[in-house]
Amino acid sequence: MADFLFKVTVIGDPAVGKSSLIRRYVENYFVGDYIMTMGTHISSKNIVFSEFNKRINTKLVIWDLGGQPHFKEVRRAYYLGARGSILVFDLTRPDTFMDLHNWSNELLNHAGKIPTVLVGNKSDLRYLRSVPEIDGYHFANRMNTSYFETSAKTGENVERVFEVLVKKIFLHNIPKEEKTKISEETIV
Ligand code: GDP
Ligand code: MG
Repeated sequence: MADFLFKVTVIGDPAVGKSSLIRRYVENYFVGDYIMTMGTHISSKNIVFSEFNKRINTKLVIWDLGGQPHFKEVRRAYYLGARGSILVFDLTRPDTFMDLHNWSNELLNHAGKIPTVLVGNKSDLRYLRSVPEIDGYHFANRMNTSYFETSAKTGENVERVFEVLVKKIFLHNIPKEEKTKISEETIV
């Protein structure tokens, strides 16, 4: 059984690869065809990591916002109770990078200051990439978050993104006393 259950959202412009990243992570699978997500799709995955020399069992509940993002109620439900978020843009489309401002503002307005990871996706399309790595790092720095370049197609860095996010959520949500308790219990 999981010790913790965390809801996370994956946000970013249409077709940046949000659904593909989730599918790669949860099912280790990639489909080349563009399948438009209609509603909000929810999947989950158990993840085990170690912190303070202790194994932490976590269940991640991953919300994928579909193609109906303009209904207010849908959006509210989407962000409600989210503990962390992955912001995705497409390395081959600079407009999706420019839109990150809107996405991070929306996240802040709906979910408050929660842990995030910034992701430049489609790193396999080397010759088409048009957002330099350094721009990704700069934006992440300004957001006070981490930056990874991923490919849902090859799987590059995909697991890492979710792992980093889960660890951040864990450290963000556990009260200080709990942290010391855990470390005292385990560091013998
Ligand atoms: P979403 O709208 O953000 O959920 O984007 P999708 O996951 O539906 O992906 C949009 C399109 O980009 C689809 O045709 C995917 O096959 C493609 N795609 C997604 N991720 C990658 C990737 O890492 N590399 C490549 N080459 N194509 C990708
Ligand atoms: Mg989608």
